[in-house]
Amino acid sequence: MKRIEAGSYYSYLPEGCKLCRRGSKLVLFITGMCKNSCFYCPVSRQKFGKDVVFANEREVKSKEDFIEEIEAMSAEGVAITGGEPMLRLNRLIEFVKLSKALDLHVHIYTSIPVKRKLLEKIKVDEIRFHPPELKGVEKYADSIKDAKKIGMDAGFEIPAFSYEEKIVTIVNKFDAFLNVNQLEATEANWLALEKRGFQIRDYYVETDEIVKLYERANKFHYCTARFKDSAQFRRRLIRIAMNLPDFYLVTRDGTVLCTRIEGDLEKAEKILRMKGLEYQRFEDCIEASPEIAEGKLKEVLKAEGLKLALVERYPTVNRTIIELMWI
Ligand code: SF4
Repeated sequence: MKRIEAGSYYSYLPEGCKLCRRGSKLVLFITGMCKNSCFYCPVSRQKFGKDVVFANEREVKSKEDFIEEIEAMSAEGVAITGGEPMLRLNRLIEFVKLSKALDLHVHIYTSIPVKRKLLEKIKVDEIRFHPPELKGVEKYADSIKDAKKIGMDAGFEIPAFSYEEKIVTIVNKFDAFLNVNQLEATEANWLALEKRGFQIRDYYVETDEIVKLYERANKFHYCTARFKDSAQFRRRLIRIAMNLPDFYLVTRDGTVLCTRIEGDLEKAEKILRMKGLEYQRFEDCIEASPEIAEGKLKEVLKAEGLKLALVERYPTVNRTIIELMWI
């Protein structure tokens, strides 16, 4: 087994995971609609059962929104998830076509054992089956066989909450992969996990003995909850931050530092332009170099009645503020 960041390891890493590890996979939440109700479902209650589309944090109302997010993070691939993507088939095929036209690697998660005819329609590079609560696993054998036959990489992706021997039998029979995810506790499934006696530490559940059993799969990958934060998410943030204007200071965690200016933004823009300084204007503020917070210009702007703060935030579309200090 090859050990990677945050306790994850593998004997086989699907292409989709390689790109995810680089932080270059855009997560396309294609619908919150789903006919299942897995006790461990991590999907937020804001999204579950709702027919909404998100590209990472960005709500998608048009193809342009999707393309903007691809460019913002210099994406190399798309991971299509939900809810159940197959419940919005036309939309799915549309976004797969668009992603392939942009030369992106596409992998999809589904709980439906789709057959060859449909597999040929969706044409993704990689398909990951998730039998809800690991029931009816044998139904997916033909789907995996068909997917491999038409040139897709295929396998199971499951949470590590119980051991199902048939999963190992099927993947080894068809040279398919097995991705096992550490069980993650979210606001959506916390109570259900506790009710079933799972010991939640921080925001995940240790089930090493179960994971060990799944190592019998020839093509095996274990992905920890911490990996998703410290490797995948952090690297995605850094990719987005590096695409922002140079005046933002990028931290090693992928957050950015800047000076936030509030008040009469027209007046602020005039002063910054006179000084030849770069800035970004948003509806609620202007962001400019964090150096302004230390320099004389700070006093000039404040004398004009403007409010200034030093801000650390995520570089993502919703600009989530991590820390803010008025100056
Ligand atoms: S199939 Fe996926 S989205 Fe649907 S309930 Fe189960 S975990 Fe949630």
